[in-house]
Amino acid sequence: MLSDQDYIEKLPIITHYFVPIIDVTFNKGFSTSLKMTYQKSIWNETPSMKSYTLSNFRQLPQIQQLSEEKQFEMEVVGNVLPFKANNYVVEQLIDWNNIPNDPIFVLTFPQKGMLKPEHYDMMADALKNNADKKEITKIANEIRLQLNPHPAGQMELNVPTLNDGTKLYGMQHKYKETCLFFPSQSQTCHAYCSFCFRWPQFVGMDEMKFAMQEGEQLVQYVREHPEITDVLFTGGDPMIMKAKIFSKYIDAIIDANLPNLKTIRIGTKALAYWPYKFLTDSDSQEMLQVFKKITESGLHLAFMAHFNHLNELSTPAVKDAIKEVRKTGAQIRTQSPLLTHINDDAEMWAKMWTKQVELGCIPYYMFVVRDTGAQHYFGISLIKAHEIFKKAYSSVSGIARTVRGPSMSATPGKVHVMGTTNVNDQKVIVLRFIQGRNPDWVDVPFFAKYDENAIWLDDLKPISDEKFFFEEGMIEIQKNKLN
Ligand SMILES: *Cc1c(COP(=O)(O)O)cnc(C)c1O
Repeated sequence: MLSDQDYIEKLPIITHYFVPIIDVTFNKGFSTSLKMTYQKSIWNETPSMKSYTLSNFRQLPQIQQLSEEKQFEMEVVGNVLPFKANNYVVEQLIDWNNIPNDPIFVLTFPQKGMLKPEHYDMMADALKNNADKKEITKIANEIRLQLNPHPAGQMELNVPTLNDGTKLYGMQHKYKETCLFFPSQSQTCHAYCSFCFRWPQFVGMDEMKFAMQEGEQLVQYVREHPEITDVLFTGGDPMIMKAKIFSKYIDAIIDANLPNLKTIRIGTKALAYWPYKFLTDSDSQEMLQVFKKITESGLHLAFMAHFNHLNELSTPAVKDAIKEVRKTGAQIRTQSPLLTHINDDAEMWAKMWTKQVELGCIPYYMFVVRDTGAQHYFGISLIKAHEIFKKAYSSVSGIARTVRGPSMSATPGKVHVMGTTNVNDQKVIVLRFIQGRNPDWVDVPFFAKYDENAIWLDDLKPISDEKFFFEEGMIEIQKNKLN
């Protein structure tokens, strides 16, 4: 319940989000007798989230506007890759007059091209033949296993161990200073990004899910590793957690008074997909209080916000949510991969970074699409990625040039594509590690043969030696971990 004072303070927010109820009556399928009523959300005091997934997306009038063929395509792809949108995404972010090209539509609704033709046909045939659920799941899993579900050595190389030998499957520790923590209650999101590299977690490939129940093991691990300065809460989306549950983890960390710990990071897309988490949800004020508690304890709260497109920064709700989060002393940093069909546009990036700065956020990373899932659909050649980055970066104020990229999160580390040049009359790509499994690799420029088709580190070849300078070391690390 809001107190009167709260209510008065929130009045501008509440009236801002208010849109009158509109009932839309439409016919389901071809029959005129089957009338359904779809109710637009009321963006009032406490808007509630309504999810749209494979089981109910056809109820959306916006979807019914599309041809049956298009709806079937979405069903085929949605049976393989994760799919979840919500009423905020559908009603406030997607421009339904711009289908199929709307970036947020491509970001949240399945598209035919996301499956390779042979995979698409396999699933389409199964659905057309009314295959049973078991058969469909079997085909889906067969396809999924061919999509490199766990890239960059996440399972074999990044899972840490306590001194007593306990393996911590709910954590990843790849770079010295920062460990990732996957609370078991944050294994979903307010909506799913169609490009997400953690997609296997959301399609029921459970044995591949990272998750941890208790904060105590996290605290113990950070205690045993004085080199760790940052704990990064991730998932899924940690901001899917109720404030009560999130605060249990935070209290465990703060109460432990770990001298090496300086920063708590939260990797989240909630500002873009459900800003009401920080405005009107029943636990919104409590969540903001947890943030305050973190900053008041002397820890830095780094809110790592995913924004893939300028349109996600356009609603009154997201702007107000950013304000509320910043008021707690948290610093918002932003990141996104560069994605064909969604944001492969330098001008858009420049506008997005400028808007982020205007709203008090710090542009942080531009990533290269990872080698998993629908990489063939979203991927951009490294050369083109650098061109887009350079064009955008060179057109914004120095204040926005805090952003780094394009960067590949590959098995040995985060590799920055710095550009192209000539070495001994040979055209080359210039690279460097921003992060490395071995810190000695960081910030050493190295070259690869110029290749316009390369979309990932594995596609690149060194210019003279047989191997890149880090490859021997990487083999050593792999041997040590696996033995
Ligand atoms: C990107 C990343 C981090 C954080 O790296 P920063 O450069 O410090 O932001 C930590 N762990 C993993 C596995 C990562 O991919």
